[in-house]
Amino acid sequence: MHKSGFVTIIGNPNVGKSTLVNNLLGEKLSIITPKAQTTRHRLLGILSHKDYQIVFSDTPGVLQPKYKLQDAMMSYVRESLDDSDFIIYMVDSNKNQLADEGIQKILVEVDKKILVLVNKIDLVLQDEVSELVEFWQKKFINSLVFPISALNKYNLQTVLDTIINNLPEAPAYFPKDIFTDRSVRFIISEIIREKIFKRYTKEIPYSSEVVVESFKEKEKIIEINCIIYVERTSQKGILIGKNGAALTSLGSSARRDIQNFLKKKVFLGLYIKVLKDWKKKNKDLKNFGYIKK
Ligand code: GDP
Ligand code: MG
Repeated sequence: MHKSGFVTIIGNPNVGKSTLVNNLLGEKLSIITPKAQTTRHRLLGILSHKDYQIVFSDTPGVLQPKYKLQDAMMSYVRESLDDSDFIIYMVDSNKNQLADEGIQKILVEVDKKILVLVNKIDLVLQDEVSELVEFWQKKFINSLVFPISALNKYNLQTVLDTIINNLPEAPAYFPKDIFTDRSVRFIISEIIREKIFKRYTKEIPYSSEVVVESFKEKEKIIEINCIIYVERTSQKGILIGKNGAALTSLGSSARRDIQNFLKKKVFLGLYIKVLKDWKKKNKDLKNFGYIKK
C-alpha cells in the first residue's frame, strides 16, 4: 500500500513553516531543480519514502491579519486548501498570534482534517505550553493539537506519523528523487516579495507582484532584472520613496539574500511598472498564476 498527498501549511509569516519542512526533509531542500513551479501549489518540498510521498506547500504572504484580504487572494487560499489532502495550521508560542480570526474562519469553512501545531515551545515554560495547547484545542475541537519546536526537532516524528496516517492511498505524484520543484526564479521573486512585505504597509504588499524578467549568468556575476508590478501610480511613488531611497535600500537588501542563495555576485535591477488594477483583471491574474488559464 502506497500513500501520497498534498499537505498545505498555513500560518502567519515567521511562525516556522519553512523550518518545519526543512527539518522534516533533512536539509534536502537545498537541492533545487530548474523546473518551473506549479501555480496551484507553491511547493516547499517533497518527502519521499518507499511507502509514501508527502508534498508540502504553503500559502505565502496572504495571511497577515492587519491587511484586508482581497477576493482573488482569498479564493486562492481557499482553492489551495480545498486541493490539499491534509492541512497543518501553524501558530507559534507568542501570545500575539492568538487572535487570528481571519484564518480560523477560512479553516472552519474548508471542512478538512487539520493538525494544529504550536511551534517554538522552546521559548516558553511548560505551564504555558499546556495553556496554549488547551487554548487551541478549544478553537479546533475536532483537530489534533501538538506542541512542537521545529527548530529543535521536538515532536517532529509525531507530526510525520500523523501526516502519514491521514494521507489517502495513492501513487506518487512526483519522481521520488525530486525534493522540490521551486525554480531559482521563483525563489528570487519570493525573496523580493518578502522584502516588500517587511518594508511596506497597508495595501502595498498586496498590490505588488514580482516577476523575474531576465537571469543571465556571466563569468563573475549573475545579472538579474525584475519588474515589480503595482496597481496605481501612487503606489509606484511609495515603493520608490524620496529620491529613490526606499527602492535602493530594498534592492540592496534583496541582492544580499540572493547572493547568499546563489553563492555568486549578483547585479539586481528592479523596475516598477503600473499595471492598472491588475488584481481585478482576470487576464493579469492568469499571467501571474493566481487563477487557472
Ligand atoms: P515561516 O515564515 O513561517 O516560514 O518561518 P521560518 O521557518 O522562516 O522561521 C522564522 C523564524 O523563526 C526563523 O528565525 C526560525 O529560525 C525561527 N524558528 C522556527 N522554528 C522555531 C522554533 O521551534 N523555536 C525557535 N526558538 N525559533 C524557531
Ligand atoms: Mg517560509
